[in-house]
Order: sequence, then structure tokens, then C-alpha cells
Amino acid sequence: MKIKTEQFKKEARRALASGNMQLAISRASKRFSGLRSQAFQNLPGGEELRTRAHQIKTEAVAHLDEYVEQFAAAAAKLGIRVYRSPDGADACRYIEDLARAQGIQTVVKGKSMTTEEIDLNQTLQQAGIQVWETDLGEFIIQLAGEPPSHIIAPALHKTQQEIADLFTEKLGVPRYEDPEKLTMVAREFLREKYFQAGMGISGANFALAGTGTIVILENEGNARFSTTFPRIHVAVVGIEKVIPGLAELGVFLKLLARSATGQKMSTYVSLIQGPGRNNEADGPEEMHIILLDNGRSKFRQDPELRPSLYCLRCGACLNVCPVYQRIGGHAYGWVYSGPIGSVLTPQFLGTLRAKDLPLASTLCGACAEVCPVRIPLPDLLLTLRRRIVEQQGHSGWERSLMKGWAACQTSPGCYRTAFELARLGQDFFPGLYPSGLELPDKNFHRIWKDEYQD
Ligand code: SF4
Repeated sequence: MKIKTEQFKKEARRALASGNMQLAISRASKRFSGLRSQAFQNLPGGEELRTRAHQIKTEAVAHLDEYVEQFAAAAAKLGIRVYRSPDGADACRYIEDLARAQGIQTVVKGKSMTTEEIDLNQTLQQAGIQVWETDLGEFIIQLAGEPPSHIIAPALHKTQQEIADLFTEKLGVPRYEDPEKLTMVAREFLREKYFQAGMGISGANFALAGTGTIVILENEGNARFSTTFPRIHVAVVGIEKVIPGLAELGVFLKLLARSATGQKMSTYVSLIQGPGRNNEADGPEEMHIILLDNGRSKFRQDPELRPSLYCLRCGACLNVCPVYQRIGGHAYGWVYSGPIGSVLTPQFLGTLRAKDLPLASTLCGACAEVCPVRIPLPDLLLTLRRRIVEQQGHSGWERSLMKGWAACQTSPGCYRTAFELARLGQDFFPGLYPSGLELPDKNFHRIWKDEYQD
């Protein structure tokens, strides 16, 4: 995937100018966050569960080396070939070599952000192997040639009409706007690909150290099909997905689907323990698990940013983020978007390379309030902001501006005048302001004084 984090401001402006995208993102994110809050209202002890989840992740990440070792040994006993991969290029090479050695021409994939992170599709396609995304949202963006714009709903930025046009253009089918009909088109198209595929690739939501099991949550059944039908199953698993065992899994199962889509439980919960055995009708002949590091061990050594490894990729923080709601996921320029993307991307790509992302936050705290594992996202964003300044320093004009603004804030008259000037600027130079940005009411200062000072 082409990395465009340096172009954040340009891409954000482009997103703000797209009416269709604004509509699609705001509808979907509001729906998801509404469903999430309803689901938590109906979950007795939900807050305690979030605290417990935080404790489990804190402990698991603190002892990650031991848990990963334990998982690898248990999985090997189940007949799984476990490979520990230091980085994305190495993991891609492993899969490409495996596919070549087995003469595989077609691969089907379940949804996996980890494989997006390592650009696996591009590697396989360049090697002449056909890759088909089987999750409906991923399939849509694959046809559109776009990266995902949301962690759990990759095509969330597209309207029904745009999807109808895309299917007609790329698949040569009549134009249907009915979502059920569009789903049937995708289903028929992909069914054939399953029959051709010699390899199915998935990620995993959790890996259980005690038993060597991987756990995959999904709603469409495509991941289950991709992991059981082709002859070979390869799971690419970030090492931070390893948790102690089944007892801990129970806590996360109650939280993850509720946080992501407001469901009590995902429609399909697959616990996979190795290739098919002799007397089993289903299951692959071979199963490989790639335990991917790709920088995670390094993040773990950083006590301030370590909590970012607790992320379950539920997407709840994106749905409530006022910045994400306006600009969607593509503006963030890489795989992960929203508040967690603004924390993860600088760690994966380098703080200065993605320096606009930690600044793309109002620090309102909504993300931390919904995070099922209580990651203190605003604190992590502030840490990254501090490091950016430490690494690159302030420019002369920034220093003068901040001094001026600090002085202005201590004087009510100056503060009021600054806002009035900004308002005049908004009237006379509307192009300077992102569409939809509203400065405080003319009487903001008086209202603020009335409400909070008197
Ligand atoms: S940071 Fe928390 S809310 Fe955001 S995706 Fe990760 S687990 Fe979900």
C-alpha cells in the first residue's frame, strides 16, 4: 500500500470536500456508536469487564515473550507449522515461497488488518498469484483499488449507489442498488474463487497460549470458509494477540463484538486447533501460523506507548472520534486510522514521518471512554506530540505564535478580539477554513463568562 501519511492535510481537505463520503462516514459511525452504547447499557458489570480486560492485556504484554513461546510450543504439538517472523517482508516471503512450492495460483483471504499492514496482497500479486478478499467490505475496496477506511468496516466510506456502480463496472453485472442483491453478486463471484484456491489466509483476533488455539470472530462466515476449505491455511498473527487462555478469552468475547458492532456476540466464533485430522470431513491438510513481530517487541519496550499493544481492533474509538467522523480513514494515509491509527502509525513508520497524525485530535477523550481495554489514547497522543517537538523542535514563528496566544489568553479583551478577527476571516476568506468548521458564537466570551465565572 502506498504510504501517504505526509499528505494528511491535503487528504483531509479532499475528504471534507466530498459530500458523499461525509454522508456515508457520519451515518455509519453514528450507527455503530449508537449500537455500542446500547449494548453496554444492557451488559451488567460492563465497566468492570473493561477493567478486567485492561488487566489481562497489561499482564499478557508484560510477559509476552513467555506467552508467545508457550503458544508456539502448544500449536506445534497440534501439528501446526509455526514460524516466527521479524518483519512484514519476511512474512510475505514465507507465504510467497510456500505458495510457489505448492504450485498455488489462487488464494482466498479472510479480513485481516495484519496482512494489510505487511502489504501481503501486493507481494503475492507481483508473484503472479491471484488474491481474493472474501469479506464483503474488503472485496468492495479490492475492486475499487482502495485501502480500508475503517478497521472493521473497510468500505464504510462508500454509498450503496457507488457500490452498485462499482460492481457493474468491474464485474459486468446489471446495476443493482438493493444490498441483498449486491451481496448475492459478490457471493456468487467469490464462491468460484474458493473452489480454485489452494490456500486460505486469515488473521486472528486472539491466540491462546495454553492450548495453541487461534480465535477468529466474524459475521459473514467467509473467514471460516477460507480457513477450512482450501488445502492450506496460513494465519498471520501479530504477537500481541497472544493471551493466556480460554478463561481470559471469555472476557474479550463479551467486549469485542459489543464494542465493534453492538452485537452480543459475533455471528461466527471459530476456535481453530490445527489442520483437519484423518477422521474429520473439514479442515485444511496443512496449517501454518506466522507469529509476526514487525516492530511490536520494540513498542513493548516503550513504557509510555506500550498500552497501544492492548488494542483489539474493534474500531469503537474511530466511531466516536470527531476528527475521524469528518475525514474518514483514507486521510490517515496508512492501514490504521482514527485515534488508534494516530498512535500506531507513528510507531510503525517513524514519529516524524507521520507527525501530523497525533495532532489530528481534539483530545476530547471520547476514544478512551469507549475503548474496551481502556487504552488511554489521549495520553498516548500527547506523548507522541511531545516527542515530535523534542525531535524536531518548534520553528521560530511557532514559538512567537504560542507566546502571543498565551499572552492573548490572559486578556479577555485580546481573546475576544482574536475570535472576532477569526470570524471576519471566515466571512471574507471562506476558502481558508475547512467546510463545516464553525468558530464559537460571536458572544462566546460573554456566554463562557456567564456560565463558568459568574
Ligand atoms: S484502541 Fe480501543 S477502541 Fe480503538 S480499536 Fe483498539 S481496542 Fe478498539
